[in-house]
Amino acid sequence: MNEKDIIQKYFTKKFNDQSIIEGIGDDAAIVRANSGCELVITTDTMVEGKHFFKHAPAYGIGYKLMASNLSDIAAMGASPRWATLNLTLNTLNHSWLAEFSNGLLECAQKHNVALIGGDTTSGNCLNVSIQLIGEVPHDKTMLRSSAKVDDRIFVTGVIGNAACALNFLQKQDFHHEDLPSAQYAALYMPQSRIDFAIELREIANAAIDISDGLLNEVEVICDASNVGAVLQLDNVPFNNNINIEQAITGGEDYELLFTLPDKLVNEVDLLSKKHDCLISEIGKINNSKTVEIYQGNRVMPYPKYSGYDHFEKITNE
Ligand code: ADP
Ligand code: MG
Repeated sequence: MNEKDIIQKYFTKKFNDQSIIEGIGDDAAIVRANSGCELVITTDTMVEGKHFFKHAPAYGIGYKLMASNLSDIAAMGASPRWATLNLTLNTLNHSWLAEFSNGLLECAQKHNVALIGGDTTSGNCLNVSIQLIGEVPHDKTMLRSSAKVDDRIFVTGVIGNAACALNFLQKQDFHHEDLPSAQYAALYMPQSRIDFAIELREIANAAIDISDGLLNEVEVICDASNVGAVLQLDNVPFNNNINIEQAITGGEDYELLFTLPDKLVNEVDLLSKKHDCLISEIGKINNSKTVEIYQGNRVMPYPKYSGYDHFEKITNE
């Protein structure tokens, strides 16, 4: 089987989408964007041994790869539209490819994303990467840099599920076949907040998705917006199989963190109900330029690492 056959067999799918002028097959894809919209473009890569274990389920790797890109598109308040897929394969394993493409395409289909192209190559290390393009009406994106002093800080969902599942796998000397379904879902099938986010963009000042730890993302918003924040950990809903510090510094929640002014709190409550999306108010933006965390009325010692950093453990050359 050659490269062309792999693409044909596993990744070429008909999408009933009028925006696609040319999909997989030519040198490059051609799409027609909606008029009045801006394009929002993101890419996310997963590397074997770094983002997933060697024996991780291929369906889950495919699903999660798409979901992690969707999470970035949601954080911008955009609608996901078109994806390209870059694959570096270290073996030609047909059952792996079949499961991987199933996971990826099922997640794509749920959110009306069309796979319109990519690149397939071989190499020493399994490496999978998606570029996802979304659309948003002119000037409607949510940025990290527009949090305002006195904004309230909210988070969607429950924090720490993926960190807890990862703990479980490491403790159990992991056999993925034995992974309880809740742990599997937490690690490999993160929810997408797209529908909620598309309406949230009308009222939020700033937003970011939580990929590297809640605390890290609060710091990122504060840095980008040149503000500070106070967090109340008692209000953070977290998976209590791990402790709160692990929950706010563990990665891969793919939830949204956002800020909005007092006067829009009722509106966001309505959105939360409409989309059946749990939200929790966990703090407030201030002008201090630092992040302080409270448990009850005590200031909590600041964790050494606020989140995951790929280069923390790699020495400089
Ligand atoms: P070229 O050699 O001109 O770059 P390729 O032979 O690499 O073209 O790709 C042929 C077609 O298949 C292109 O439309 C490309 O976007 C698509 N393609 C390649 N790999 C993938 C993949 N993993 N998933 C989806 N489409 C792919
Ligand atoms: Mg070409």
